[in-house]
Amino acid sequence: MERKILVATTNPGKIAELKAMLDADVKWLSLADFSNIAEVKEDGATFVENACKKAIGYAKATGLWTIADDSGLVIDALQGGPGIESARFCGKKSDDRELIDHRNIEKVLKLLKGLPPEKRTARFVCCLCLASPEEILIQTQGTLEGLIIDRPIGENGFGYDPIFFLPQLGETVAQMTPDEKNAISHRGNAIRKLKPLLDKLLKQN
Ligand code: IMP
Repeated sequence: MERKILVATTNPGKIAELKAMLDADVKWLSLADFSNIAEVKEDGATFVENACKKAIGYAKATGLWTIADDSGLVIDALQGGPGIESARFCGKKSDDRELIDHRNIEKVLKLLKGLPPEKRTARFVCCLCLASPEEILIQTQGTLEGLIIDRPIGENGFGYDPIFFLPQLGETVAQMTPDEKNAISHRGNAIRKLKPLLDKLLKQN
């Protein structure tokens, strides 16, 4: 019987990216395929905890193998912040994602004001977890190292991309095409690590 895997998100971009990069012979489902499923809260203390909590929670709720992720920006000068608070760093709530991204960036720039480039080191982190209703099956992490610059540059991407500068490429993530970003990104790297482990697991089950 064909294996079904639930991707624990309603974000169509994330689902498409996972499906394309994992390229596995499975039927992919998303949370949009289930009505009446209780939300699993992201209240863990780390990216790993959040990804695993969501994967296990939705696997138990649906009986399906489930992949969940958690990601964010880690800035050394902010002792690892905004970290798991990346999505809501500015403290404001709004459905307007662009407005929240803009305010999150403003807050980071204010906190780092006057800091020299060598003290503006940061990384994007993405944790992925695949769980069955009984146990965690695979857990991977991908990172992307960079520097936080002092003003936004670039129109592509989302979140903190316009202030995340890649010294080796001489551009921000928001200046890259989606394909260029996927090839090096924290999420891309976490998915590339997951793929061989998933292929092996699917052969055994
Ligand atoms: P989530 O894990 O997709 O919910 O991401 C949490 C937050 O981390 C996002 O709302 C962004 O603020 C930030 N973030 C995660 N990945 C990226 C990225 O690739 N670029 C910019 N910001 C990101």
